[in-house]
Amino acid sequence: MKPIPLAANRFPRFYRGGSAIDELRGVAGGDGTFLPEDWVGSTTAAFGSAGDGLTRLEDGRTLREAIRRDPEGFLGRRHAEAYGDDPGLLVKLLHAGERLPVHCHPDRDFARRHLGCPWGKTEAWVVVGVDGPGPVVHLGFREDMDPGRLTGLVQTQRVEPLLSGLNAVPVAAGDTVLVPAGMPHAIGRGVLLVELQEPTDFSVLLEWEGFAIDGRAEGHLGLGFDRALGAVDRTGWSPARLDRLRGGRGPARPGAERLFPAEADPFFRAERLRPDPAVSLEAAFSILVVTGGSGRLETGGGAVELGRGDTVLVPFAAGQGTVRGRLEAVRCLPPDPGAAP
Ligand SMILES: [Zn+2]
Repeated sequence: MKPIPLAANRFPRFYRGGSAIDELRGVAGGDGTFLPEDWVGSTTAAFGSAGDGLTRLEDGRTLREAIRRDPEGFLGRRHAEAYGDDPGLLVKLLHAGERLPVHCHPDRDFARRHLGCPWGKTEAWVVVGVDGPGPVVHLGFREDMDPGRLTGLVQTQRVEPLLSGLNAVPVAAGDTVLVPAGMPHAIGRGVLLVELQEPTDFSVLLEWEGFAIDGRAEGHLGLGFDRALGAVDRTGWSPARLDRLRGGRGPARPGAERLFPAEADPFFRAERLRPDPAVSLEAAFSILVVTGGSGRLETGGGAVELGRGDTVLVPFAAGQGTVRGRLEAVRCLPPDPGAAP
C-alpha cells in the first residue's frame, strides 16, 4: 500500500478560527472564520452529524469504509486484534481565533456507561504556532471545586470565576500538553495546534455565553447537566501536578523525539520528526502533519513529496519508511495495545 496524501477536511464549528490553518496549508484567500478545525485522516463523525468530520479518499470512499475492507492492511495485525477496524485515533489541526469556551470530555468509563461508546476523549496538544500577545491555555481547576458551586457557575454562566479558577499556562510553538479526560480546559486565542484525541466528539460545555451555540440545550451530550457534570475532574491541579502533563520523553532514535508522557500511550502516541539528514519509521498506521520545511517520505509501498502544511496517512502495509529533507513534522500514532489504560 502507498502513503495517502490527505486533502483538507474542514466544516463549520461554533467558534471562530481557521486563518492559521489556511496559512499553514497555503490556502489563498480562505475564509476560515468559522472553520477552526481540520480533521486529518478521520474515521470519526462530528457529534450529532452523519458525515461531517469523516475523511473522504480520492476514490470517493470514506476512510472508514476503506479501513473496514482491509483492517490489517491499514492498521496492522496487532492493532486490528486489539481494536478491530477502528484506528482509535482522531487527529486535528485546530486554530483558536477566539478563546474557546471552558469544556471537558468524558473518560472511557463514563462514555461506556452513559454514551454507549468504548472511547472517551483524552486529548493532547502539540503547539505549532501562536499569534497575538501572551498566548495561554487554561487547564484544570487550581483548587478542588465543590460540585454544588460548579453546578451554580454553569447554570448561571458566571464565566469570570469559572475561568479564573483554572490554571492559565503560557504556551509557545513546540510545547506539548496531555489533557486527560475530565480535565476542564480552554484553548486561548491565537493558538494553532496539532491535536490528538480518542476517536469521539464528546464535549461537556461549562461555558457558552457569547458563543454561537445554545449550551443549555447542546452542552450536555443529551444527558442533562446533572449527569454530564459527573464527567468533570473537580480536583485541584497544582503547578507541579500540571508539569507532569507537559513536555515529552526525549529522543526515540536519530531524528525522532517522543512527545507526551507515558500516561498518553493507552490513548495515542506522537513523535516530532526532524530528519538528520534522515529519520526511519517502523511500519505503522500513522498520520504525518508537516509543520515546516520540505522533504520526501519513502516507504516500501511508494513515495510522496512533503511540504509545509501537508498531511499524509501512512498505512501499516506501506511498510518501513524513511523521511529525508529539511523539515519538521508531527507523526501521530494510535494507542499502544500493550499499554494499560
Ligand atoms: Zn477539548
